Amino acid sequence: MKFKILLIAFLLSTLTSSSSSSSSSSSSSQSSSEESNIISRFQQYLQIKTDQPTPNYTQSTIFLTNQAKSLSLQSQTIEFVSGKPLILIKWEGTNPELSSIMLYSHTDVVPAEHDKWVHHPFEAHLDSDGRIYARGSQDMKCVGLQYLEAVRRLKGWGFQPKRNVYVLFAPDEEIGGHDGAEKFSLSEVFRGLNVGIVLDEGLASPDEHYRAFYAERSPWWLVIKAVGAPGHGSKLYDNSAMENLLKSIEIIRRYRASQFDLIKAGLKADGDVVSINMAFLKAGTPSPTTGYVMNLQPSEAEAGFDIRVPPTADTESLERRIAEEWAPSWRNMSFRLGQFQQKVSVYDASGKPVITKTDSSNPWWALLENAVQEAGGKLGKPEIFPASTDARYFRNLGLPAIGFSPMANTPILLHDHNEYLHKDEYLKGIKIYESIIKAYASFDEHGSDGRSKDEL
Ligand SMILES: [Zn+2]
Repeated sequence: MKFKILLIAFLLSTLTSSSSSSSSSSSSSQSSSEESNIISRFQQYLQIKTDQPTPNYTQSTIFLTNQAKSLSLQSQTIEFVSGKPLILIKWEGTNPELSSIMLYSHTDVVPAEHDKWVHHPFEAHLDSDGRIYARGSQDMKCVGLQYLEAVRRLKGWGFQPKRNVYVLFAPDEEIGGHDGAEKFSLSEVFRGLNVGIVLDEGLASPDEHYRAFYAERSPWWLVIKAVGAPGHGSKLYDNSAMENLLKSIEIIRRYRASQFDLIKAGLKADGDVVSINMAFLKAGTPSPTTGYVMNLQPSEAEAGFDIRVPPTADTESLERRIAEEWAPSWRNMSFRLGQFQQKVSVYDASGKPVITKTDSSNPWWALLENAVQEAGGKLGKPEIFPASTDARYFRNLGLPAIGFSPMANTPILLHDHNEYLHKDEYLKGIKIYESIIKAYASFDEHGSDGRSKDEL
């Protein structure tokens, strides 16, 4: 009897040890097959041609809706404009009274010049070094699917969110987001979600620090025009349209250099200065035979500039500079506010600069910092995004929105040829989001959310 028990114990222990060793080897093979499934889902999403100006939203909607099904999550397709779907996926929290988390991404991508890429931009080729080449690999299909993969893992572990978690996929960001995020942010549907924090896109970081963005620069597209008496091409005289425009261009170029010098000296980051670049130059008297009439000084000349203004800038003094130095009427230059082709205010509806706080008044910021750190990542100093993202529509409502794409040790290739993301960075990013979503969805500082929301 005793012998029998011992034998059984021995057998059991061998069984458990062999089963535990086989389970560890099967879990590593399982995790490598899980990894390849994750990468393959990312590749499938990248292969959908959602490039502007003719994005295939039908296919991306089918794909994303199927992803939601595979996660046993409800999804809803919303169209404010026909053919421009938003896909809203909901993971219900145990305390839906609390404000919700919105994980935002856009489904469209910018076009790509196929012949200038080493691999086709919609093949999502994984090379032997582990790089996944595709349009959208950085901007921002990576983020959209990383959210879903993080949710998949958290669900797999039995994690239950307290807050409702929404994963939103929106169209048309690359053409301004007017029929996507903008209409959505102003909709009843959005109001009904009681969103407390929005995560949107950031930028890759060439070093080991992830980048997080708390604001963005506003585009001011300015056209200045000079008029002057026309004259013979051989005559030297003052106040010709060309001369006046060139004087302005010189002044603007000096200002541009002064801003750029601050970046070069390491005193300011890209998003902290006013950037200004000439977009077009229009002058001359056309000739059907030679292109332009050469012996005539034209009576009009125009130049267009793309200016990006951070919400921290003194916009009044910038407008004065434009009126008094860049396009002064005493030099026959015209500049009217209406001549801005686009002028996005740096202030929200209540007159405050459109900025998400990064101090202790915003618990979401500290939660993000801690969550990134807990997942083994490093976060750089908060930055102003140099261009525009859809986050502005949510910040304009006074909501906190953080721009964050977890891509460290990665060159910034958004909108560039050969955009790629290394698969290991992609996988690491999923871990980072697991940590962030867990922290955000569990956050319940005051028990009831009433007070904390006011503070946000
Ligand atoms: Zn983007």
